[in-house]
Amino acid sequence: MLKTTHYDHITRIDLARTLAGRGRYWTTAYLVDGLLIDSGCAYSALELLAYLQGKPLSYLVNTHTHEDHIGANCHLQRMNSELKILAHPFALPVLAEPRERQPLHPYRRLMWGWPEPSKGEQVADGEMIRTENFSFQVIYTPGHSSDHICLYESEYGWLFSGDLFVGGRDRALSAGADIWGVIASLKKIADLPLSTLYPGSARVRENPGCELGEKIAYLEETGERVLDLYDKGWSVDAITRAIFGGPMFIEIFTLGHFSRRNLVRSYLRIQSNGATQHDEL
Ligand SMILES: [Zn+2]
Repeated sequence: MLKTTHYDHITRIDLARTLAGRGRYWTTAYLVDGLLIDSGCAYSALELLAYLQGKPLSYLVNTHTHEDHIGANCHLQRMNSELKILAHPFALPVLAEPRERQPLHPYRRLMWGWPEPSKGEQVADGEMIRTENFSFQVIYTPGHSSDHICLYESEYGWLFSGDLFVGGRDRALSAGADIWGVIASLKKIADLPLSTLYPGSARVRENPGCELGEKIAYLEETGERVLDLYDKGWSVDAITRAIFGGPMFIEIFTLGHFSRRNLVRSYLRIQSNGATQHDEL
């Protein structure tokens, strides 16, 4: 399913798998001045392709390589051999071999499906991507994933934040995400003069400064509580229950890939083998 919303210079394109006539598990792409930011999931690729037919397209930038942001890359590259796909250097191997580099849990296959391989070119932190009327600065913002970037148009104060900021008070985290990296990256974007924030899902925010500040404060305060209880000898499970309460449906649905426990472990920098980063120093 595909829905569009038009802003002054920007088209928001919401994309989702269609199940029983309804869109599920939405993610958002944006089209601005021949620049497409993200390409949705594999299930909505043909709808996006049809929507973009006949529209000028110079660049596709992937904010990161999660499957719900790169699903139509291959189709768009086939449709337009001139199209440049730009992403962080860490993203390029995943774009080239998504199945080998980013195995998908069953819930991710159900919600978003397997992307096909595409060929990306790297953009570095600080580099500018220029379209006819706008200039977008690449800002490296790891945490949600190690290959995450945001795009910033300084003259208009627009920030395309991918999955770095979608709002809310996090009670769970994906395995492999780094909550301290998320906080550092949020601080980086909160320092910018922003008029409008365009996230990779959820609603567009005007004047997002306060909301970004509140989110950073919430995440830091939560981290302090986690560390305090850990220092007092509490176990990960006990900390999880005390701070985030009882089980969440999403934990069962994702077989624990997205969980409260992962959030606590990330605050404690516990890696999947049970070691802490401190142990390895
Ligand atoms: Zn993501």
